[in-house]
Amino acid sequence: MSTPLRALHVYVPALIVALTACTGTEDSDPGKVRPEPDVPQAQDIQTTDLDLNLGALTGTATLVVRPAAGMVTLDVAGLTLSRVTVDGVDAPLNVVRGVLSVAADADAETVTVVVDYSFNARTPLQFDGWMPNLGVTFLWPNYCSNLFPCNPALEDGVTFTMNVTGVDDGLTAIYPTSTHGDGPPYMAAVAVGEYTKMDLGTTTAGTKLSAWYFPGAAELNNAEKGTAHLRDAFDYFEQTYGPYHFGPEAGTVEVDWGADSWGGMEHHPFFHVAKFDFNDEEAQVHETAHGWFGDGVRFTCWEDFVLSEGTTTYITARALEQVDGPNEWPYYVDDFLVPICEGSAPRDPTLVNTVVLPDTCNEIDFENDPIWSLTSYMKGACFYEEVGDEIGADLLDTIIAEFYKANVGKAVRMQDMIDLIEARAGDAHKDAIEAAATDWLRTLECPEDYANRCRTHDP
Ligand SMILES: [Zn+2]
Repeated sequence: MSTPLRALHVYVPALIVALTACTGTEDSDPGKVRPEPDVPQAQDIQTTDLDLNLGALTGTATLVVRPAAGMVTLDVAGLTLSRVTVDGVDAPLNVVRGVLSVAADADAETVTVVVDYSFNARTPLQFDGWMPNLGVTFLWPNYCSNLFPCNPALEDGVTFTMNVTGVDDGLTAIYPTSTHGDGPPYMAAVAVGEYTKMDLGTTTAGTKLSAWYFPGAAELNNAEKGTAHLRDAFDYFEQTYGPYHFGPEAGTVEVDWGADSWGGMEHHPFFHVAKFDFNDEEAQVHETAHGWFGDGVRFTCWEDFVLSEGTTTYITARALEQVDGPNEWPYYVDDFLVPICEGSAPRDPTLVNTVVLPDTCNEIDFENDPIWSLTSYMKGACFYEEVGDEIGADLLDTIIAEFYKANVGKAVRMQDMIDLIEARAGDAHKDAIEAAATDWLRTLECPEDYANRCRTHDP
């Protein structure tokens, strides 16, 4: 019954990347620097306009940046630069260990930096960057500089505008001409394929939804099945939590990630769902939900990954329940939480138990840390489920909505969410909420009777 490779989000390809990095495959890139460069936090990339030629493998990035101490510092580790200008004046190509530094007017509120560059085509095994063999880009978690100059730190949200050329005749490139609001640096993406567009309708708030799927009767079937409640779930998120942050149009794009085409990636407004999961409502609504958490509200530290994935997993199940879709709790518990808690899938790195909310900030090696596993999704979802049992799922929704509206477009911490829930739930519930946070988020061992506690909604 269970399919252990199945992930709610991309895992296996990126884990392959992480493992191959140890054998030097990824490190063969000249100038590639990991971990993230130390980009000054006072710096703020406000907008990034990307003009990409996928055939020629060239790009022009136009960034509006608030400089820090008279400098602009950008990660360009995967790029070969040909020209850089600052406010129209040529600047030296000063790249050290993959980081471009250019002087800027110290008194300027913002400067415009234009970078002309080329980038490498990536193989499916390398995975991060533009993969012409698969017709898709992938930049998670911090490989934005394989496609454009950037700051991979999640704290620095950016609004993208995009134009893509160099696409073969007969193929369609799916990308947003604008993301309309600040999202994480990995959010920009393009998918190229022989796509058919399906109209999924318009939400109450007026957001126009579509699905783009590959040719074939089976693919059409999968698209219809996977998106059966997508419009209603999107509508639930808008009506319950707040307005969508990434423009008047959104939708799901079928992508080919090779042999590991499971899960999806939150490239809003046109998010990617891998082809083996394109018929799966949970995967479709999960990537939809990231428009509110993960992208809409970003997380400050990699240790706060649960704020993205735990919240998204919970509101996915919540929305599907509320719009008469499938009940995902047995799937969450039986397929993922049980093997995590029992340690019954020790060779599967996506099902390794861990503390999902450590009290550090950006001190873990995220790509090699067990926080990057389904444990963050499931224990996070169970935390919310148990809080819903304690205070009522409707009240929990109103608190999540308040949190979303206060923090959309910003980066915050999971503790901020816990604090707001405790404040709004009132003193009578504080100890129970704190206990749920301790049991699910801050303790390695799963709590006693964990499966029933998470699976069953108390009336
Ligand atoms: Zn996710």
